[in-house]
Amino acid sequence: MTDPAEVAGATMSPALRTAAEAARGFMPPDEGLALYAAACDAIERVAQAPLLEIGSYCGKSAIYLGAAAQRAGRVLFALDHHRGSEENQAGWEWHEPDLVDPETGRMDTLPNFRRTVFNAGIEASVVAVVGDSPTVGAVWTTPLALLFIDGGHGSEPAHRDYEIWTPRVAPGGLLAIHDVFPDPADGGRPPYEIYCRALESGAFADVSATGSLRVLERC
Ligand code: SAH
Ligand code: MG
Repeated sequence: MTDPAEVAGATMSPALRTAAEAARGFMPPDEGLALYAAACDAIERVAQAPLLEIGSYCGKSAIYLGAAAQRAGRVLFALDHHRGSEENQAGWEWHEPDLVDPETGRMDTLPNFRRTVFNAGIEASVVAVVGDSPTVGAVWTTPLALLFIDGGHGSEPAHRDYEIWTPRVAPGGLLAIHDVFPDPADGGRPPYEIYCRALESGAFADVSATGSLRVLERC
């Protein structure tokens, strides 16, 4: 496997790095930079095709991916229903109470996402797709230079995202999966399971690993 920094050949702008690090969410800086590098690499590998992330939350990973898109004149589709995953709901480990809309009583990360992307200056390159991943995936046909899976981390949502979305990765394009923990002591299984499925399918091969981020290429 190659060092993601080597694959990059591009340096993220310091202003966008600062914005990404300040944004709320779940993406350590080294993994974010690896994601940026993967997006730059994917853009070189596949002409014209857009990038798509599943699971945007407040826009942290969207800055890393959107920075690469902006630099190259591509587009990132940032897909999220913005109602939070199971683990973001009240009473769960990753709940942030100020993200609940007092009017509906439901989580709503869309306003934060919009602010984050606007303040980073990448709004022209980042298109929010607000909806349920399988609903959008059922009608999505555009080939992707890069697919980043970081949506629902339960078994059902993770495997469903894998099944619905990975066929959309263009030949030579990249698949990035977050929160891949080979050791069960470090975190939940489903992202690791779909990473293994991708390798075992023979359709994807390892490119790089940074923390819990895995980058694979479509063979
Ligand atoms: N990438 C983000 C973290 C994502 S957290 C960061 O960098 O911080 C996971 C996100 O997946 C949540 O915002 C949740 O709303 C979204 N999500 C979970 N299940 C989903 C589904 N079925 N459709 C769309 N979004 C979903
Ligand atoms: Mg994650």
